[in-house]
Amino acid sequence: MKSTTRVAVIGGGVVGCSVLYHLTKLGWSDVMLIERSELTSGSTWHAAGGFHTLNGDTNMAALQGYTIKLYKELEELTGMSCGLHHVGGVTLADNQERFDMLLAERAKHRYMGLETEIVGPEEIKKIAPVTNTDGILGALYDPLDGHLDPSGTTHAYAKAARMGGATIETHTKVIETNQRPDGTWDVVTDKGTIHAEHVVNAGGLWAREVAEMAGVYLPLHPMEHQYIVTDDIPEIYEMGSEHPHVMDPAGESYLRQEGRGLCIGFYEQPCRPWAVDGTPWDFGHELLPDDYDKIEDSIAFAYKRFPVLETAGIKSVIHGPFTFAPDGNPLVGPVPGLRNYWSASGVMAGFSQGGGVGLMLAQWMIEGETERDTFAMDVARFGQDVITPGYTLPKVIENYQKRFSVAYPNEELPAARPFRTTPMYDTFSDMGAVWGQQFGLEVANYFAREDGEPSYETPSFRRSDAFNATAREVHAVRHAVGINEVHNFGKYLITGPNARTWLNRIMAGRIPKQGRLSLTPMLSPKGRLIGDFTVSCLSEEEFQLTASYGSQAFHTRWFEQNMSEGVRFENISDKRNGFQIAGPNARKVLAACTRTDISDMRFMDVRKMCVGMTDCLVQRVSYTGDLGYEIYCDPMAQRQLWWTLWNEGQAHGMQPFGMRAMMSLRLDKFFGSWLSEFSPDYTAAETGMARFISFKKNTDFIGRAAAEAERATPPARQLCAFEVDANNADVVGYEPIWIDGIVVGFCTSGGYSHYAGKSIAQALIPREMAQAGLEVEIEILGHMRKATLITEPLFDADGARMRGT
Ligand SMILES: Cc1cc2nc3c(=O)[nH]c(=O)nc-3n(C[C@H](O)[C@H](O)[C@H](O)COP(=O)(O)OP(=O)(O)OC[C@H]3O[C@@H](n4cnc5c(N)ncnc54)[C@H](O)[C@@H]3O)c2cc1C
Repeated sequence: MKSTTRVAVIGGGVVGCSVLYHLTKLGWSDVMLIERSELTSGSTWHAAGGFHTLNGDTNMAALQGYTIKLYKELEELTGMSCGLHHVGGVTLADNQERFDMLLAERAKHRYMGLETEIVGPEEIKKIAPVTNTDGILGALYDPLDGHLDPSGTTHAYAKAARMGGATIETHTKVIETNQRPDGTWDVVTDKGTIHAEHVVNAGGLWAREVAEMAGVYLPLHPMEHQYIVTDDIPEIYEMGSEHPHVMDPAGESYLRQEGRGLCIGFYEQPCRPWAVDGTPWDFGHELLPDDYDKIEDSIAFAYKRFPVLETAGIKSVIHGPFTFAPDGNPLVGPVPGLRNYWSASGVMAGFSQGGGVGLMLAQWMIEGETERDTFAMDVARFGQDVITPGYTLPKVIENYQKRFSVAYPNEELPAARPFRTTPMYDTFSDMGAVWGQQFGLEVANYFAREDGEPSYETPSFRRSDAFNATAREVHAVRHAVGINEVHNFGKYLITGPNARTWLNRIMAGRIPKQGRLSLTPMLSPKGRLIGDFTVSCLSEEEFQLTASYGSQAFHTRWFEQNMSEGVRFENISDKRNGFQIAGPNARKVLAACTRTDISDMRFMDVRKMCVGMTDCLVQRVSYTGDLGYEIYCDPMAQRQLWWTLWNEGQAHGMQPFGMRAMMSLRLDKFFGSWLSEFSPDYTAAETGMARFISFKKNTDFIGRAAAEAERATPPARQLCAFEVDANNADVVGYEPIWIDGIVVGFCTSGGYSHYAGKSIAQALIPREMAQAGLEVEIEILGHMRKATLITEPLFDADGARMRGT
């Protein structure tokens, strides 16, 4: 066994083997994989081997498409069979909401180049004859769906990796991972110690235990899962061709042909977590005992949908565990808080996602960043400091149960809530707050304060029943004054003698003078957007940064990776709370609450002042695009600050407003939002953020060369706004833009401007087309909606209200 290696991959399931292969494919050959038993000795060996492209997250769907297309390449490269059955598959819809979801997915697939299609009951009958289509409205047909041989595929990855120079040690158990002061690792096994520059945790069922060896917690949990293989069924083996896959979300089942019979698996509601207190090390090639009770209802439903099953005998039952993260997506990337330690775990669909996970991780390790936005599977999307096993378990159970449920754009999932709350939680609840959750934190979506305003927002693809409450809150902001918390901003304190120098290197924009704010993009070395920040200069040695709350671990990891001497960094997201007030009366309210003269406080000024009894940091800026102030304080004093502002606000028509109103208000000014308009998928020039880059500053900021290159040769696409002739459904994100029957771009986000009474979309289209008045069609839930490119903001176009004194 080698005693040194550039990368030690722990775990020889399909994911570890894919990572190993992709590392060699991208150029690193001094890599090894360590497996405690034979390859496939975790979840991998008992998988049903099905693969699909369908995924609510567009980047995940693209990676699933990559994985599926990779298998042929792997077979050609290695001469080994992956046992591929590209039989296609249908996902059924038995009600309008499910059908809406499939229509939305089909629309996304158009610009992703995936050849899916919507089919009706008659066609379903022809494609998948064992299906009883009673009550079925339609289905999404995907020709890429299929299944493979899990063991053959894993060994093909392993062979391809070996061909690229990798070594694989089986029957070698990792028992410790110890970091040296230089950031490299001693990987201690029962056969000796390996000194590795990087460690990859691909421990699958044991990924939690492997992570613990490095002193970190990975939010994942194993769940039991069961599928049944039937005896031969004449209707199947007499078909003449292989029966395709059928996903039946109503029955929470997936079905496919296996030999001369069928195989059907269930995501049953009475599901069970497995190995809550840790995966036993002696678990391996055994299965869990059959459990028909758990799937009794699911089987009864399946008999109705697939009547041939009722008389089919059972050949075998496969019941085994596999792992899930709280949202069902993998946990990939550099583990926050550790150096040179990478996760490739929590992969619940290894045969749909394993290839994409391997590719992304190898790019990240070798090239420093991935080619596309990986946030949906980034291990940093969960806060390392806040997420606990007690949170993960109910979330994982919820995710398993909702595996086949409709995923609505406005849905707030109930498990493990409320978890993290601010001092305002009870006060706001008493005022009718309807809560959502971000990064474990309760955030008010809107307030049900008037008759008929629902205390629960019904999930929908169309305009929701929170429409009127949102309209009322928008009206209050635009015509009087609104108040909301600032708890869901990520906040950071940067201090020290080199703070300004460091910020100039990390941020692409101008770093403001004392007492001022600036907006700045943060770029990756390749010029991709990895943050949009507000920087506040409190003194030459003290700066506050604000950005997306959900990106805290992502941003913290980046700051730590790029730290310098003479700079201190602190994540103060939950240590500084407070409120934002916005609207024409906002100045009057603040002026009445402080003895500080704010009459000369300009747009983008920041000042310390006492508001009521509370020392606050006040910034004149607002994401609503209105006259507004963000008022930050110590959370211990937040309630006092609330009563000061609220009591004074009553004379000025103050009303609380939530995130639904905020997202409508920002559309009036075409303000982008993080992970919609601004994400690592896009560059500053594409999204209009280049106007905040300071090319004048004498600093080689990260991403400068790429940004300069884009300045010299502008990118092919540009972010624009459209007014949409929508009906009762607005753009959510990723809807295709059509001109003359051709897809020319896609929406990044959209919604309804309650201020202007218009449906608005933001979209990326070819730069040469981006002219005011351009007419396009946007496909929303299967309907082509006319849309016109607009360049003039809907509210305060000259900025007089936002900037004026
Ligand atoms: C019943 C069932 C059906 C499924 N059907 C499908 C399907 O149809 N399609 C699909 O895509 N997915 C399916 N899955 C899920 C799929 O099995 C997993 O997504 C996949 O196997 C995860 O692979 P992995 O490599 O991450 O983990 P694992 O397969 O668990 O591999 C982890 C490996 O790491 C090794 N290891 C752990 N700790 C150490 C250590 N300390 N030292 C050395 N080695 C270590 C283990 O021995 C193991 O071999 C199914 C799962 C189940 C249970």
